[in-house]
Amino acid sequence: MRRERWIVAASLAVSWCGCAAPRDRPTRRPNIVFILADDHAAHAIGAYGSTVARTPHIDRLASEGLRFERAFCGNAICAPARATLLTGSHSHMHGVVDNAARFDGTQPTFPQALQRSGYQTALVGKWHLKSEPTGFDHWEIFPDQGQYYDPELLSPTGKRRAQGYASEVITDLALEWLETRSDEQPFLLCLQHKAPHRSWEPGPRELSLYADETLPEPPTLFDDYATRASGAAAQEMSIAGDLSEFDLKLGQPTPKSARALAAWSAAYAAENAALRAQPLEGDARTRWNYQRYLKDYLRCVAGVDASVGRVLDYLEREGLAEDTLVIYASDQGFFLGEHGWYDKRWMYEEALRFPLVMRWQGTIAAGTVDRHLVSGIDLAPTLCEVGGSAALPGAQGLSLAPILRGDALGEARDAIYYRYYEYPDPHRVEPHFGLRTERHKLLVFPRLGASELFDLEADPRELHNLAGDPQYAELQARLRARLASLQRELGDTP
Ligand code: CA
Repeated sequence: MRRERWIVAASLAVSWCGCAAPRDRPTRRPNIVFILADDHAAHAIGAYGSTVARTPHIDRLASEGLRFERAFCGNAICAPARATLLTGSHSHMHGVVDNAARFDGTQPTFPQALQRSGYQTALVGKWHLKSEPTGFDHWEIFPDQGQYYDPELLSPTGKRRAQGYASEVITDLALEWLETRSDEQPFLLCLQHKAPHRSWEPGPRELSLYADETLPEPPTLFDDYATRASGAAAQEMSIAGDLSEFDLKLGQPTPKSARALAAWSAAYAAENAALRAQPLEGDARTRWNYQRYLKDYLRCVAGVDASVGRVLDYLEREGLAEDTLVIYASDQGFFLGEHGWYDKRWMYEEALRFPLVMRWQGTIAAGTVDRHLVSGIDLAPTLCEVGGSAALPGAQGLSLAPILRGDALGEARDAIYYRYYEYPDPHRVEPHFGLRTERHKLLVFPRLGASELFDLEADPRELHNLAGDPQYAELQARLRARLASLQRELGDTP
């Protein structure tokens, strides 16, 4: 049993340069377990209202802690969103504007800050930032995107191939590291899943889930983009036409082991044979694709949730539950058939919003739901404050630590900023930027000379573009002006 409370005297808090910084009062420094999923939409979590996702462990984390209802990323693709979580700054500041960019790991990040202030730090799983991780005493990552079955792992000593399913492999590695850590210092563990990223390959334990069910379709599965700017119709991320045979499990099975192969075959072979015997076309085929896609996505989610359960069990078994801040998040959201899409990228709600759940027993009141406008840039400042390290140079976000303590947030923001760059490949999603307030959203497509304006209260599915409607001209002008001032504040000049 390893049990201790991390009480540090004021003088132990260190600034970025390593020198002692005075603090007003002793700070309890929690261990931090940061669980990051890849492409896990908030609306694929029970605690966020999903009726089909099976996420009992994430739901439990939320009911015992805090669920941020309005957490939004600043650029809804993997590498940029991850660099933002690490640095607390937007893409134009940290430089990772798209998935092709390489992260400069010499810039300040929250793991570096916590490491400097005395935390033991470890990272396992997906990194996806091209450069080697910095700020970790121990790291073992998937090269690039990683693989679901028998994944290759990269560490400072080289590459090796693990046996098993990715979500389980990295959970084993995380728990192994927790066993080897010292009891003398608090720890930061970053457990970063590949799942449920494309190509949504479920683990052997989850392949049979949803077998005989028909999942409900979103009302916008057959969206015609009637009022939207032309970019929405020009994308290549449709469930109707852009999923590959590999995505749909109509090609070669991925697993190599006999047990996993048998589970894979039991899940797909009969349905695949029926489709080949009687091919479907048009909307019927779209519906088939949707069922296959969403079931696989949710099976992957269930595997991530099982990992969360193992981590929570470990913390309880070792008497660490009270002294550990456990965070569950994703880098961005994802479309689960809304607008006819899979993937992310757009500033529409399903991709923009990410799940952010925190449990810290004794500090966060159980069952808290927070509705502040939170941005991905807020995570790093929050963890630096909670961990007693100095403010992160270059960070643009707000510390959410007051919310964790149940205090008022000093400077709540009126709007979050967004900018998407990657074009044309891989999905022909038109570059855009914009802002989201409590009630409205403005998207600007500079190449198209077009914009979109939505009233999220009246039109939560974002189907009725109000841009250009004279009735909303004043509102649009006001939002354009606020967007311009937000860009000035953040130092962005699109
Ligand atoms: Ca992602």
